[in-house]
Amino acid sequence: MSIKNFLPDQYDATSELEINHNYLKDQFSDYQDILQKVGRVVERGDFTLGRAVEEFEHRYAGIIGTKHAIGVGSGTDALFLSLKALGVGSGDEVITTPFTFFATVGAIVTAGATPVFVDVRADYNIDTSKIEAAITNKTKVILPVHWSGKPCEMRQIEEIAEKYDVQIVEDACHAIAASIDGKGAGSFGAFGCFSMHPLKNLNVWGDGGIACTNSDELADKLRLMRNHGLVGRDHCHMFAYNSRLDTIQAVIADHLLDKIGDITRSRIENAKMLDESLGGLDQVTVQNRDLGCIKQVYHIYSLCFEKRDELQKYLINNGVDAKIHYPIPMHLQPAAKKYGHQVGDFPIAEEIANTTLSLPVHEFIGEKHIEKMASLIKGFYG
Ligand SMILES: *Cc1c(COP(=O)(O)O)cnc(C)c1O
Repeated sequence: MSIKNFLPDQYDATSELEINHNYLKDQFSDYQDILQKVGRVVERGDFTLGRAVEEFEHRYAGIIGTKHAIGVGSGTDALFLSLKALGVGSGDEVITTPFTFFATVGAIVTAGATPVFVDVRADYNIDTSKIEAAITNKTKVILPVHWSGKPCEMRQIEEIAEKYDVQIVEDACHAIAASIDGKGAGSFGAFGCFSMHPLKNLNVWGDGGIACTNSDELADKLRLMRNHGLVGRDHCHMFAYNSRLDTIQAVIADHLLDKIGDITRSRIENAKMLDESLGGLDQVTVQNRDLGCIKQVYHIYSLCFEKRDELQKYLINNGVDAKIHYPIPMHLQPAAKKYGHQVGDFPIAEEIANTTLSLPVHEFIGEKHIEKMASLIKGFYG
């Protein structure tokens, strides 16, 4: 096996499409302003855990509604370090869903624990009613994923966690600015973990992540763990890791934080327009969006479609970057072989993986793009 850096090719392959998932050139069209701010970091030589990191963490905690936010190297590291800070290790089980991005399970496994999957519901989120059956005396953490930026049923999950005395770590990588009753996704669990990967709603020029918590003790622990366990230049409180949010990335993230309200609003509006245009089609399953007090932020906008693969080809041929997030659930990945799962174990996740298709709804998608996507899809089904 020869492992290549494949990401540049992946972006190039669809870069010519008119309606694209990738919008980074537009998003950072004001990059000269950001470069000026970065220049000030260079002048100060403030590269590791510099002032900008602290300022950004403070603002981020305010947005999520937690007492602390700790910047780390990536969303994956936020998950991994959170699990480690809670003492997760060998012999422990962590409950999550098979319908997620690899990093959720990767963090559990690299923390030394065993992932225990619980199927999702039609809304792609963990089926709360099936969690209790998966709890054993080895369960240490429930790790719900707010898929696409729709918060899971956190009130109910909190009750279960309390009943069985287990912790909650939220994978909120899709869910900045999502909320339940005004309470931010990522503020319910012992930790809420966010990613600032270039294709997330709040993104930087490389990798970045952040873990939020209300606990002073856990915040201290995470701050130690991301920085060699150091309490000062010469004293190590615990041998640990190096996973700091770069100062330069913090400058970029902080710059974008001013826009997160507008970014979120346009995603919600675009999703609503698509829901309305496609809701009448028999071949398309639009989820129930009558969500009451739940705010979904559409990091991904996906629906389930009949003849999904053909539709995807048709859309791509017509300039729409329709993507599948993701075609193979975690329990059926080669990496999951040792857990002994098979097709049929998590039928809803499998059904979604076979039928889901995502359409771009980011802030540079306008009404005319929405109309084009809707009319192409209607045309496809005749
Ligand atoms: C992106 C993502 C992560 C990992 O984030 P990175 O910053 O890329 O490490 C974790 N979980 C989910 C659901 C994600 O989408």
